Amino acid sequence: MVPPGSRQALSSGPDNPTTGFGENILGEVAEGNRVRLPDLATIFQRRAQRLQALAPGHELEGFLRLIAALVAAQHEALAGLPPGSLPGPAEIAKAKLVKRAPLDPLTWPRDDSWRVALSRILEKLDDSVLPEPARQARLALGRASPQDLEALADRFLGGDIAAGEAARTVFVAAALQVAWTRMAALLDKEDFGASEAEGGECPACGSPPVSGLISPGGTKFGHRHLHCSLCATSWRYVRVRCVHCGSTDKISFRNLAGTAYVRAECCEVCHGYSKVFYIEAVRVLEPFADDLASLGLDVLVGEEGFSRVSNPFVLGVMEPADG
Ligand SMILES: [Zn+2]
Ligand SMILES: [Zn+2]
Repeated sequence: MVPPGSRQALSSGPDNPTTGFGENILGEVAEGNRVRLPDLATIFQRRAQRLQALAPGHELEGFLRLIAALVAAQHEALAGLPPGSLPGPAEIAKAKLVKRAPLDPLTWPRDDSWRVALSRILEKLDDSVLPEPARQARLALGRASPQDLEALADRFLGGDIAAGEAARTVFVAAALQVAWTRMAALLDKEDFGASEAEGGECPACGSPPVSGLISPGGTKFGHRHLHCSLCATSWRYVRVRCVHCGSTDKISFRNLAGTAYVRAECCEVCHGYSKVFYIEAVRVLEPFADDLASLGLDVLVGEEGFSRVSNPFVLGVMEPADG
């Protein structure tokens, strides 16, 4: 069970620094924390603010505003969730032993709190920002049985989404993010293995990163932290190393003309890529929001044959805008 003290995590204690991924990130990451757990008080709020700031005049303005509203609803859904389950010491020890992330959604059984988060998100969302497919998806989810919702969550987490359910999946992904971010925030730094994170997967939940952020510190080249697409944990990862296959060979970079603050790190070995943001070049960055606002780069490297696990909310733009 999530301890009653979990409410404290919503205010900021010493283990949850108020600095999220905003302008204060410089000093924070310069210390080179190996793993940074999300701060529940600010994570979704800052993300929503960043999306709102990125939207005006953007070619995906409508989409960014829609996701900003969704993320704002995630923030509201976080407050007052019922207690959920969290791995205990025995489960943590076992996960360490088999080198599995303690909150891996494929092995850690999820409780009902994500469905409560889903209904709260659906209820809080401002209808006026929703395009027709999203409105229909909201209605369909409101009527769906718990079994149907669990099956949809399984398909999303397994990366097996059927055609026609992308819009519904975006809401499901948002609710799962709320539940997993809360669990990750309540973990202890001792819950992770002692060595430098070897893989490109989240040490808390095993999900792929949404992007990486480079900030000054450590060597003259700075540190890279990868950011989890599901639980918002970030972890330090070697620079110029493929996040998919670990290769340090044949890595090259691409960027869009006029955007120095974001590059795609492309691997010729596995043909995977990941996005890297440079905090020095722009003062405010939010790894999840800025990933959505730079989809043009994904298109560019996609055309060259590189791929990655996409941002869960990108599913929403794949669906036709109307009808
Ligand atoms: Zn994670
Ligand atoms: Zn690779």
